Amino acid sequence: MSPEGTSLHLPSHQRYTCKRCGDGCHIFNEYPLDAESRRRLADLAVEDLLPSELRDAGYSEPAVLDPAKTVLKRRKSDRACVFRDEDMLCSIHREHGLEAKPRVCQDFPFRFLTTPIGVYPGVSFACTAVLENHGDELAGQRDTLTDLYKVSGAVTVRTDPVLLTDLHQLSWPAWERTLGALDTIIRTPNREVGECLAAQAVYLDLFRNLVASLRHDYPAPGGGTKDRPVPWPPDCGQQKDEEAAAAMARQFTGDGDVSRLFDLAGRARAVPVMQRTLLGLMASFRAGLDAGDKRPGRFTAISRILTTWFFQATRLGPLRLPGIPDSFGRRDLEGIAINTNDPEIHDVLQRYFSHALFRQDLLMARNAWIGQRWQLLHYALIRVYAAADALQRGENTASVVSFRMAIRNVEKYFVFHGGFQRLFDQYPALGQLFDAAAAKPTYPATMILDPRS
Ligand code: SF4
Repeated sequence: MSPEGTSLHLPSHQRYTCKRCGDGCHIFNEYPLDAESRRRLADLAVEDLLPSELRDAGYSEPAVLDPAKTVLKRRKSDRACVFRDEDMLCSIHREHGLEAKPRVCQDFPFRFLTTPIGVYPGVSFACTAVLENHGDELAGQRDTLTDLYKVSGAVTVRTDPVLLTDLHQLSWPAWERTLGALDTIIRTPNREVGECLAAQAVYLDLFRNLVASLRHDYPAPGGGTKDRPVPWPPDCGQQKDEEAAAAMARQFTGDGDVSRLFDLAGRARAVPVMQRTLLGLMASFRAGLDAGDKRPGRFTAISRILTTWFFQATRLGPLRLPGIPDSFGRRDLEGIAINTNDPEIHDVLQRYFSHALFRQDLLMARNAWIGQRWQLLHYALIRVYAAADALQRGENTASVVSFRMAIRNVEKYFVFHGGFQRLFDQYPALGQLFDAAAAKPTYPATMILDPRS
């Protein structure tokens, strides 16, 4: 695919130059191989590239690939890529250079989204250089990214209209305008990132109400259905969407008064038990997905939801987070200090949630409004992961190192490399429960509440 004729957007405020650390690009659930990568691997003496402990254990070329020869294997001991050597580096890269590596590894940490308003090269925050904001500004890497886009195997194309809600389509230009406003909100000076996410939720609630009122009588009072969202009325075309998006952005960002969003967000009540139970459910069901859980029947899923709900609500049960070796009790977290106003922690959180907008994470959900609700859940998960990481290290404060590990784990298990949609597809009852919780006015305030509450 060629980017000619399509504008390549470049992310701001984000640097990346590979540190050759091997920390973030060997940990994924799978390494799918395209035909060309398989052919390149077949030409290499892969036995010689395997670390000695694997060679001694009898690994050989057939064992490097899964039976269908489409996915690179991970080793049993630490679930890392079989080619990672003792220095945490890729032995194919070391011996044969970057071009010899499988396509999926050359692409990392980039993934491209092609839309009617341009191409978005998103980066994974599982990568150390991205997390640390190390290296050259991505905004200055147009040529490199254009070349990578031409050969990348990680390109997704989206041409269908954006769904603001299940019932309302939105034009891409109106969506671009809305993304710009959401980015301004996440970058509001002197505001904690959680507060900014709650303010974004208020913004999208107001925008949703405005769009719904503009289409109130079309095609019939009450609007459309999930399968047939309300399109643009003939006399109220896409132009109206853009006017509505521009009016919202003017009112609350730019020259408008963003503080009103924060005031409205600050008035909502938080429900600690809702945060505990939702996080416990997501962690528990995500761990089940990793363990190859079969799709349970409705009765089994509901009884599992109720059991987890009870043990998390009462703080009696342990919390087991995918990627954290030991489970721990809710009360163990109470001794860990979490300071999201620390400048380094604030920086990585702000870059992360700003970049999530850039790479269009909100469109990974079935509609953008729900996608923003996911962001709030990611934020809650990151803080619990950071506290758990500090606990594992025997520290009493969640440092920026713990926050980076937390974002890496959330990226790996819940976002860029394993989104919620997969989880909800496997466990529909969990998805329905999340939808019900996310629709509550208390949800945004609840998700930004201190996870030790
Ligand atoms: S994790 Fe990122 S910085 Fe480290 S080797 Fe992989 S791509 Fe490079």
